[in-house]
Amino acid sequence: MTDQINPCFECGQCCQYFRVSFYHAEIEGNGIGKVPLSYTTKVNDHMACMKGTEFGKGKCVALSYSNEEGYRCSIYESRPSPCREFELYENGKPNPKCNELRKNIGLKLLPETTI
Ligand code: SF4
Ligand code: SF4
Repeated sequence: MTDQINPCFECGQCCQYFRVSFYHAEIEGNGIGKVPLSYTTKVNDHMACMKGTEFGKGKCVALSYSNEEGYRCSIYESRPSPCREFELYENGKPNPKCNELRKNIGLKLLPETTI
């Protein structure tokens, strides 16, 4: 990525649309991750999700917004695997889910070439 502004800072939609669920061992102290426990909701004996995203179309508790910086993940270094795996570009092409979500709120689509 160049020094262009990260397009996620004006968007934040994936953090307000999907149910962000993951294996409970990704919660801090449980083994393989460090997602803060207080930011999660138990789904079942094996799975948890980010608080706020339980039913979809809800804002993740970790998403922050300011006029100066736009949208940011307040637990970026500790975010769960679905967040790490959701990429702006896949095989050099814009992620179609990103563009669908961006289009829904009237944002420019991602450029065709990786930024
Ligand atoms: S939907 Fe795509 S462009 Fe928007 S914040 Fe998520 S990853 Fe970034
Ligand atoms: S943990 Fe961070 S990246 Fe993942 S949905 Fe929440 S705000 Fe978005």
